[in-house]
Amino acid sequence: MRISKGFFPTVKEVPADAVIPSHQLMIRAGLMRQLGAGIFSFLPLGYAVMKKVMQIIREEMDAIGGQEFHLPALNPIEIWEETGRVKAFGDILFHIKNRALVLAPTHEEIITHIARNQIRSYKDLPQLWYQIQTKFRNEPRPKSGVLRGRQFTMKDSYSMDSSPEGLDVSYNLHAEAYKKIYSRCGLNFFIVGASSGAMGGSGSQEFMIESDAGEDTVALCDHCHYAANLEVATSKMPSAVRLNGEKALEEIHTPNIKTIDQLAKFLKIETNKCAKSLVYISGDTPVLIFMMGNDQLNEIKLQTVLGTDVRPAQPEELLALTGADAGSIGPIGLKAKFKIIADKRLEGANGMYSGANKNDYHIGNIDFNRDVKVEGNYDLRTVEDGESCPNCSSPLRIVKGIEIGHIFKLGTKYSVALGANFLDESGKEQPIIMGSYGIGVERIVACHIEQHHDANGIIWSKSIAPYDVHLICVNPDSESIVKTSEELYNSLQSKGLSVLFDDRTSVSAGFKFKDADLLGMPLQVVVGERNMKNQEVELKERATGKRWTVKVQSAVDAVVQFVKN
Ligand code: ATP
Ligand code: MG
Repeated sequence: MRISKGFFPTVKEVPADAVIPSHQLMIRAGLMRQLGAGIFSFLPLGYAVMKKVMQIIREEMDAIGGQEFHLPALNPIEIWEETGRVKAFGDILFHIKNRALVLAPTHEEIITHIARNQIRSYKDLPQLWYQIQTKFRNEPRPKSGVLRGRQFTMKDSYSMDSSPEGLDVSYNLHAEAYKKIYSRCGLNFFIVGASSGAMGGSGSQEFMIESDAGEDTVALCDHCHYAANLEVATSKMPSAVRLNGEKALEEIHTPNIKTIDQLAKFLKIETNKCAKSLVYISGDTPVLIFMMGNDQLNEIKLQTVLGTDVRPAQPEELLALTGADAGSIGPIGLKAKFKIIADKRLEGANGMYSGANKNDYHIGNIDFNRDVKVEGNYDLRTVEDGESCPNCSSPLRIVKGIEIGHIFKLGTKYSVALGANFLDESGKEQPIIMGSYGIGVERIVACHIEQHHDANGIIWSKSIAPYDVHLICVNPDSESIVKTSEELYNSLQSKGLSVLFDDRTSVSAGFKFKDADLLGMPLQVVVGERNMKNQEVELKERATGKRWTVKVQSAVDAVVQFVKN
């Protein structure tokens, strides 16, 4: 493609709301333009990358036996009512008013609808169906460019099996295919065990990249590749050591002492001998939670333990329930009845200090076995950066991550809801056992840019670069330079390479070089008077900045070799 004839709207200025590199560069390099909140038009260069990504996905899905579908984005609302997901998706679901239609945010319902009508017997299974198609989600906070759009492209696939073992096979095939897809797309990724959330079902994993633009927080071990969402992450932490000897409780006057650090300093003890108390309300029940020292309570872990939504108690509730303000609350002498739980590290702890439920007083020598009616010890703490990996003890890093794909063992949630059954070998009707697997196409493009860019622009991996080569005619007013450039343009294409040819006469050489770095093709071929004096052209590898010259007559071979390697 000749830049002079094509549509390559590169810009210097980016909108103020484009704060992350991929968003800025996708606009600056003319890959996309924003139409509305979370709505983007992909321009030819951006769509060229998307097509490469989709092709890689197709190849890997076909390789595991996937069959490609194309399902409607416009769905009758009834089928979403049948599975209860009109309610589950809530405001995320786009409704077509007066038509009883919705725009599909995912396609479990539609796939299951097809299976219900077509799959009869175990002999029809397993099946692996996929599509690459537009999804609609009314994301409450569309941001970070195409990373969170309200219309986006997803590869979604669905496995149907007649046994749990079959589901395991389908699931593992996807896990392997996903690794290949992300590797081929040039992404450094990691895999996180996750909860299945609103989708329902057992086991699931998320594929993620590390990025400050991410919305998930993950504990990551660079040594053994342990990776877990902070909501479930654990680390190796020493538990309480029981002290010898029985000591009676003692009340200590602690004027103006509110925090664990102040208390430890005042009493000249380790912070780990202090039990921090927190009051939450779960339904109607006040819950008193103890953490060791400065350990941070993880509210999601608490929610998982209690099985309900929780909220921190208000200051006036604290006073009414305990008789004291935050900072002076403890297990002894509470006014109200509490459900009391404690972090695992406090199991059996004694010689502990905590609030006296009386402002400016604390109590010492608390024995959690003797003095506190703890209903259970659970892992409630938030892992901190640098703590030891639970598997290999190497230091964990706490990083932000972006989800690029997700694989779920759905089980029979949708087949039961929609009555998609099959006859097993003994002629008995059984619900189809399903899996669901998604990859965001635009997210791969944006995440690739997040991982591969520099101050000058994008650095595409060869596998998804919109063009193999960026050919630059430096001196368009020189007849011989133009002739050599044109010849190279033709012969590179005749070798099957895709070439972006900067043949513009209207802009300076410096401008062309800047654009070439911004657009980020893996190899630049520079045809200019300086090197042509020696019958040479210059090659520049975008990723490393390495430059070298080759004779004109061997230029095509050199480029082909670079691209194929
Ligand atoms: P997130 O937690 O980021 O909202 P999700 O759990 O809702 O993601 P899934 O329903 O599992 O995502 O969708 C599968 C894939 O589709 C995701 O892994 C992601 O790559 C992509 N995706 C999801 N929502 C969006 C969106 N709003 N914009 C772009 N891609 C998205
Ligand atoms: Mg979502």
